[in-house]
Amino acid sequence: MADDLKSHLAPFTITDGKDFKLKSRSTDDDSWKRSKKETRKLLQTGIERLGKLQEKLYAQDSRGLLLIFQAMDAAGKDGAIKHVMSGINPQGCQVYAFKAPSAEEIDHDFLWRTSKSLPERGRIGIFNRSYYEETLVVRVHPEYLQKQKLPPELVTKDIWKERFEDINAFERYLSRNGYVIRKFFLNVSKKEQKKRFLERIELDDKNWKFSMADAKERGFWGKYMDAYDDMIRNTATKHAPWIVVPADNKRFARLVVAASVVDALEDMNLAFPKVSAAQKKDLEAARLALESEKRG
Ligand code: ATP
Ligand code: MG
Repeated sequence: MADDLKSHLAPFTITDGKDFKLKSRSTDDDSWKRSKKETRKLLQTGIERLGKLQEKLYAQDSRGLLLIFQAMDAAGKDGAIKHVMSGINPQGCQVYAFKAPSAEEIDHDFLWRTSKSLPERGRIGIFNRSYYEETLVVRVHPEYLQKQKLPPELVTKDIWKERFEDINAFERYLSRNGYVIRKFFLNVSKKEQKKRFLERIELDDKNWKFSMADAKERGFWGKYMDAYDDMIRNTATKHAPWIVVPADNKRFARLVVAASVVDALEDMNLAFPKVSAAQKKDLEAARLALESEKRG
């Protein structure tokens, strides 16, 4: 990525959550002075770059990339994922959406369902929601915690702190196994969410996207923001940073996401596997055989 773009986007990446405050973060692109056309072009370039890097990741078949998306409803998770995906070979990418857990999932520890869905080496895995819901929706609605069949003595006031610790340990473990992790929080304002909900109600082709449940969750906005705040403060690390993406402008949000993914892949110093002298000899033999084939 161009250096000026990189330095512009750098402040969105949180590698140490210690002093993090969501309140001091803008949901808009106020510092972004480029035209729509230029932004679109940068996004396109980023997506093309991503495709080339993914080829190397796949060929090398050693590291993996896990991208996690968390946000309030209508913040643009689906659109951001669609854009990131648009430049990459579907064979090298796996997307999973995590909804309210099933009976089978509830019968396991909270990292079970996401662990089963981790990307293979050489792949990019995308989580549309994730184990972080265990510190968000479950924290905002304590009745969900009650349904988790945990031994009562383990449900104490320390449970959120313990979940952060477990998540940090899990992500450190993944990074020690060759997985790079980037976590995106699409930071949309309450005002913009209202506008998008109203659009979903007014436009026929968006009606299907509207859900009463989403509107109800909006009522818990403040509680969610507190939970997000605490989550980022406790789980932003060097090996698994949170990227707090201003999400009121969709195009800008997608650019921040694409640029961060490119950045993560570039940091891996990926290269196509080197061919040995013996393999080179085989290639040469294959070429001679092909060239000496009779025509037709
Ligand atoms: P969209 O609405 O755009 O299709 P979505 O991600 O909002 O996408 P939903 O079908 O609305 O998908 O389902 C997601 C719901 O599942 C969210 O309300 C989320 O909070 C909830 N959920 C996810 N994980 C958990 C969990 N571990 N415990 C309880 N609820 C969860
Ligand atoms: Mg929803």
